[in-house]
Amino acid sequence: METPRYLTRNFGNPGALAHEGYVKSGGYQALKKALGMKPADIIEEVKKGNLRGRGGAGFAAGVKWGFLPKDDGGPRYLAVNADEGEPGTFKDRALLEQDPHQLIEGIAITCFANGVHAAYVYVRGEFHKGRRTLEEALRQAYQAGVLGKKVMGSDFSLDVHLHPGAGAYICGEETALLESLEGKKGFPRLKPPFPAVKGLFGRPTIINNVETLSCVPHLISMGAEAWAALGCEKNGGTKLYCLSGQVRKPGLYELPHSTTLRQLVFEHGGGPRPGRSIKAVIPGGSSSPVLTEKEMDVRMDFDSLGKAGSMLGSAATMAIDDSTSMVRLLQNVSRFYAHESCGQCTPCREGTHWMHKIIDRIAEGRGQADDLDRLLDICDNMAGKTICVLADAAVFPVQSFLRKFRAEFEEYIRKGRKMSLVGWTEEMPEAPTAAGIH
Ligand code: SF4
Repeated sequence: METPRYLTRNFGNPGALAHEGYVKSGGYQALKKALGMKPADIIEEVKKGNLRGRGGAGFAAGVKWGFLPKDDGGPRYLAVNADEGEPGTFKDRALLEQDPHQLIEGIAITCFANGVHAAYVYVRGEFHKGRRTLEEALRQAYQAGVLGKKVMGSDFSLDVHLHPGAGAYICGEETALLESLEGKKGFPRLKPPFPAVKGLFGRPTIINNVETLSCVPHLISMGAEAWAALGCEKNGGTKLYCLSGQVRKPGLYELPHSTTLRQLVFEHGGGPRPGRSIKAVIPGGSSSPVLTEKEMDVRMDFDSLGKAGSMLGSAATMAIDDSTSMVRLLQNVSRFYAHESCGQCTPCREGTHWMHKIIDRIAEGRGQADDLDRLLDICDNMAGKTICVLADAAVFPVQSFLRKFRAEFEEYIRKGRKMSLVGWTEEMPEAPTAAGIH
């Protein structure tokens, strides 16, 4: 049976890009309902619906909202994280491009619930189409009285500002995003104080990502109980999974949290290409620890993947078949983190650089006997010792690749130059048989 679609229900329906079409599809009814509720009741509803933040950490959205201090009469803000940059992730871009009014409705409900009158959407610099689509939707929303003074005829007023980023991965980290919004270099801040207490322009700020906010109208519209029942314990609602890599049907899937990794890759994604077998899966973006084929019977929710030693992260699931060299794959991943470290902390700035240098030489057939232990030592000197979690994100793949595929790395070191001729994959993957929104 096909899962009903909520977040992607308007995908493939260009009419819903316009305010009128969105309203025809049932849009802005949840905002109308929310404006008739008490703000505290909306927050309670979101807590009961078990809506977990979809940006990566999986923190309960309603609990996060509850951290805002009591209203002191000064401004408080919502910062919308649309800086999706984790390798393999493409869900927020799709939401921006295909249903911008759904996001605006989620923003408006969230702001009303938290006494916020100004929201800033920080859009990744490369998302030209998404930014233009959202810009036009915002213009229409103002014109239709959904934004501005007296939102939908109520006493509530709200302004939404759009701010393009400049393509730095680190600006997806919430405090770097705030610095960038303030016009400064995107350097993560030390925490505490947390943004809920001292965020944008030194004022209390909520930071939620695009998918999280896009869930809010559905939760309010159907009620907390029904939303929670779509998922599993402590993981309410449906989830967008970005399936890529060596499967027959890569694409964006909206599925219940109870879906297992094996079901996602084999049933929905069609499994590996003919003659190939899946040997590993990165379940939640390049920073999530890799799982082997034998570990694929895990449920794709935040808690189950955590217990399995990995994480759901941004739900960017990358399938890896037996034609892929894990050494070459880690070489690529480590290059990314070395490039994206902001350089503030020595363990991260130096550690990501040295990790990449060592993995690079192993892949090129110049590895040394003690390189693997050296890599693990560098990992120990990085994890948990820096301002933000980029260092940990760089460490997780190295530790898990070495733990689960150490023999491949040892073979590269043993055989030297012979292995350097082995390419990224032994053969070019065929074009997928089908791709798109599922
Ligand atoms: Fe910058 Fe890395 Fe430190 Fe994060 S951990 S603040 S990215 S140097």
